[in-house]
Amino acid sequence: MKLIIFTDLDGSLLNHGDYSFAEATPSLRRIKQSGIPLIMTTSKTRREVEPLQREMGIREPVIVENGGGIFFPAGYRNWRIGQGEQEDDYTVIRIGTSYPRVRAFLEKVGPRFGVRGFGDMTPAEIAGLTGLPMERAVLAREREFTEPFIMERPDDIGRLNVLAEEEGFKVTQGGRFHHLIGIAQDKGKAVRMVCDIFKANSGTATKTIGLGDSENDLTMLGQVDIPVLIPRPGKGFLGIRLPGLIRATQAGAGGWNEVVLGLLNNEDEITTRDWQYKKPGGEL
Ligand SMILES: [Mg+2]
Repeated sequence: MKLIIFTDLDGSLLNHGDYSFAEATPSLRRIKQSGIPLIMTTSKTRREVEPLQREMGIREPVIVENGGGIFFPAGYRNWRIGQGEQEDDYTVIRIGTSYPRVRAFLEKVGPRFGVRGFGDMTPAEIAGLTGLPMERAVLAREREFTEPFIMERPDDIGRLNVLAEEEGFKVTQGGRFHHLIGIAQDKGKAVRMVCDIFKANSGTATKTIGLGDSENDLTMLGQVDIPVLIPRPGKGFLGIRLPGLIRATQAGAGGWNEVVLGLLNNEDEITTRDWQYKKPGGEL
């Protein structure tokens, strides 16, 4: 195994507006043919990623709820995961705090800030805010670690963050929502843990690719060998600098597909030190 791909979903592998990954079909086909692990690294819940994995025809570990938990499918590659608990069809590594604790904090301080989390909303309201179909909005509400929320006065986010940190939480920003998450979790930490498990079991040198579009992807992009930033519709690129950062030229699944295909076409060269990404068309 030479490559592992970690990817954000909303706004990255899935279009921000319609959640389609159709434009990424050519690169997804290549990924499956080559047996490259595609690790969804998302703020979505475990229940939301299950149907997405089925639609894409993959069965890989997932990092859900902004690094709150890692779920390895039971028996994955006959590996020894070495940590976590057996639960349903998974080995589960819990990094974040529990959802009831997150909710208890929000119920205490939320009213002061005009905060409404998914636990305060009906599936219909979540569907209205996200554009998700109703059955997916129901799955978005089945949370285990973290809470997405909206605020009446977004300028108060700094003050809310101070209170959150005092009680062992922090706030991160996705494409649509703020997320209240455990202070000890982020996507980058979970990526590192997954890489360690891969390294311990496969014993081969592996290059990692990470793709994301929002602030909550920064720790993931900082952990991988090849970070890829996807532009956000109407908002452009997140303002970050990282060595070797590749910027996709289109938003969503189209941009994702373009960069991943470009990388897979250079799979052998990626391992060399002087390798440089060339955009489709040739220029660096
Ligand atoms: Mg995103």
